[in-house]
Amino acid sequence: MTQCVYFFGGGKADGNKDMKDVLGGKGAGLAEMTNAGLPVPPGFTISTAACNLFQQRGALTPEIEAESDRALARLESLMGKTLGAPANPLLVSVRSGAKFSMPGMMDTILNLGLNDASVLGLKSRTRNGRFAKDSYRRFIQMYGNVVLGIDKDAFEHELSAVKKRARAKADVDLGEAQLDEVILRFKAVVKKQTGGPFPQGPREQLRGARDAVFKSWMNPRAVTYRKLNDIPHDLGTAVNVQSMVFGNMGETSATGVGFTRNPSTGAKEFYGEFLQNAQGEDVVAGTRTPHPIADLAKVMPAAYKQLREITTRLERHYKDVQDFEFTIQDNKLYMLQTRNGKRTGLAAVHIAVDMVQEGILTPREALMKVEPQALDQLLHPIFDPSARAKAEVAAKGLPASPGAATGAVVFTADDAVAWTAKGKRVVLVRMETVPDDIHGMSVAQGILTATGGMTSHAAVVGRQMGKPSVVGCGSLQIDLKARRLHVGKSVLAEGDPISIDGATGDVILKELPTSPSEVLQVVAGKLKPQRSPLYQKFEKLLGWADEARRLGVRANADIPRDARIAFAFGARGIGLCRTEHMFFAEDRLRHVVAMILAAARGQRGLDLRSRLRARLQEAKGHQAAELRRELLKVEKEHGEAIAAYTGALKKLLPMQRADFAGLFREMRGTPVTIRTLDPPLHEFLPKREELMVEIATLKAKGASRNARTIAAREKLLRAVEELHEFNPMLGHRGCRLGITYPEITRMQARAIFEAALQVSKKGTPVKPEVMIPLVGHVEELRRQKRIVLEVAAEVLGKGGSGVEFTVGTMIEVPRGALTADEIAREADFFSFGTNDLTQMGFGLSRDDAGKFLGYYQEHGILDKDPFVSLDAGGVGQLVEIGVKKGRAAKPGLKIGVCGEHGGDPASIHFFHGAGLDYVSCSPYRVPIARLAAAQAQLEKPSGD
Ligand code: PEP
Ligand code: MG
Repeated sequence: MTQCVYFFGGGKADGNKDMKDVLGGKGAGLAEMTNAGLPVPPGFTISTAACNLFQQRGALTPEIEAESDRALARLESLMGKTLGAPANPLLVSVRSGAKFSMPGMMDTILNLGLNDASVLGLKSRTRNGRFAKDSYRRFIQMYGNVVLGIDKDAFEHELSAVKKRARAKADVDLGEAQLDEVILRFKAVVKKQTGGPFPQGPREQLRGARDAVFKSWMNPRAVTYRKLNDIPHDLGTAVNVQSMVFGNMGETSATGVGFTRNPSTGAKEFYGEFLQNAQGEDVVAGTRTPHPIADLAKVMPAAYKQLREITTRLERHYKDVQDFEFTIQDNKLYMLQTRNGKRTGLAAVHIAVDMVQEGILTPREALMKVEPQALDQLLHPIFDPSARAKAEVAAKGLPASPGAATGAVVFTADDAVAWTAKGKRVVLVRMETVPDDIHGMSVAQGILTATGGMTSHAAVVGRQMGKPSVVGCGSLQIDLKARRLHVGKSVLAEGDPISIDGATGDVILKELPTSPSEVLQVVAGKLKPQRSPLYQKFEKLLGWADEARRLGVRANADIPRDARIAFAFGARGIGLCRTEHMFFAEDRLRHVVAMILAAARGQRGLDLRSRLRARLQEAKGHQAAELRRELLKVEKEHGEAIAAYTGALKKLLPMQRADFAGLFREMRGTPVTIRTLDPPLHEFLPKREELMVEIATLKAKGASRNARTIAAREKLLRAVEELHEFNPMLGHRGCRLGITYPEITRMQARAIFEAALQVSKKGTPVKPEVMIPLVGHVEELRRQKRIVLEVAAEVLGKGGSGVEFTVGTMIEVPRGALTADEIAREADFFSFGTNDLTQMGFGLSRDDAGKFLGYYQEHGILDKDPFVSLDAGGVGQLVEIGVKKGRAAKPGLKIGVCGEHGGDPASIHFFHGAGLDYVSCSPYRVPIARLAAAQAQLEKPSGD
């Protein structure tokens, strides 16, 4: 039979610190401390397996009951007392303790073993009647609530009544006789509510308490906590039965909690609080104000000194900050718990680096102590923690881009710009954002949308800009016309204050104080690195990560400003420049629209003309005359469109060239991957409904007076209608655009090579990588590549003028992954577009799935949003197939990823395992990716 009960006491324990799965965190800590010879009250732990069995059967097996009885007998003999015996009772605590700490989620019972007889035994042994009676009334109260299910208020009501009659302000003001009355009243409450007397049998009490703790594993708040923290439901909790020590035996006793270092700042200071003459729950309950732990040195110097020695030892032993609980009974110190302390991102960085400097950790061990995601907290403004804790959360959306934003509500991008110009801080609230909201997004403190998922426009662009964003907040109702925002029962007008927490998705309907990120201030050149110890430690830690990792880290950046930040954060290369984002700038959009309006006829005209010209070269006499006539006809029919189309492209060329030159300069010779145009063209045009309203309004105001504008708007409307697609994400986009409108690819390739030449001539090395999107068939890549190579030869000449470039493709269509061998023969590199690969692999619309993905997660269909964390079992297979087939056809093929998953730690572990060469993510995630890549390599080393 497998052991289910583990004893600790007398300097030796059955378990140890590595048995958290079996003993839970608390049980493993108690065992380890016992083995280390520390003063731990003895007891035993009933395993998590017993809990799981209990959940299935509703009871424990006779074998486990017998094992428990044996452990209790051993405890009684070690302590020289019997549980609940009238003369000299052994009293125990019964506490939960799961593998991962779930603070306050499950139940605890103290002083178990007290009854009408043993309370008198306790009184005579301790010569303290008040203490004995107070312990008994606490036990009835806790047991009554946790085991018998009686509402806490029923007891509080009686306690208050006695206090009132005695004119006592606090519980401690009640004397023994008054506590006797409380006990009588409490027992009456039990009788009334359960129909039976308060259980007097100590073993019956123990069984009841143990089973109640097991049951508390499934109580709603514990279930919710596990869901929120990704803790599996089948782990179960252990139960720790431990002999009681008393912090409430008078002024020479105390109880407290503490940390070996400050968990919010990371400072190396003994941190915590204690209460004299109190029991554990008094410290947490907030009924009395605890004292700072430093004061313990004054009131109980010997115990304080011992506590410091023990906790320092524990920190070295566990190589981590310890979060501990202790009790001092009559000047004697007992340790009740120790565990690795939870900490903020800021503290995590300070502590990891300090511990290396103190010789406690090696740099590699330090890397494993910091959650990559926690680094985010260092890169964004933060809310004042106490104001944040008190603030009421009015709504919750998806936490799309972390950081704290507070400001006045505005409803349009133009308003965001106008209010900001007047010196106001604003939060842009939209149903969803569209590319031409970019100016408003860039000035807003944060972005809040009612629809959209984690790869929606607002989410992607928000992350790229490092702008706090909450998206898909379904409970918002926006009345754009009235400039009103309805959140539940509250209504906000334009200008009203709002705050959003991009790390949690919380929306708060008031202004909260924020402070800027110190690291970001250094990166932006506003603060000297020497003046920021935090920045220095951040850099040190990431320097160690760079030494450890195998994966390269690049950034997704489209403009030089973002590229500069990405480089400063440690990105060595751009993995994705989405060229379309440049098209939305105010000075370009009109040329883009002109290009789109003329594209279809213009491109057809160009194609016809070049075909006729080719034939003309071979033709003679009568045939040549015929071809010339046809050429004239083409000029007449398409000349205007050709001129508009090529004219717009010519206008865009120098703009794009300047953009690319800026990127090359910022990235200082590291690779810059530039993707040819990707989105469906209608995205650059106004919405159909908006145009229709505009035309109708113009007509109403005077059709003849507005004739020219109306004609222009109607032309635009026709184009919008022609471009309409039922399923644009599967429509005319990606390389399909470059194939049907090759002039666009030609212009972009020319801009890339001309920029490369320009920058390299000035002495900065350049490494352009031209990337073709949405390739599902090798022929698509072959044709686009041909155009790119033709332009390269024209611009760079045969010798290449010293500019080395490559042409590769995104793998983001399932067929592309499945035929990666054929595609690899044409490609210099692959970059997985896991946003589209997830969309098409799962058949989930990136823009619409937010409506039901939340339900899927809540109901356990999916653990995580697959647009946030790669679906390793499904979409991951497409990645693995793509890598395997690609490298089989072309050994050593360079492969990266540039979907949003490139910045997600769990996905980075997957990409490391799949053998990718690099990940590319938004600039603000670069530090996270560097650390996650190092952790992946340390956990699962793989060769270069
Ligand atoms: C992708 O699909 O993963 C990708 C990076 O491209 P986009 O998000 O621009 O479609
Ligand atoms: Mg894509």
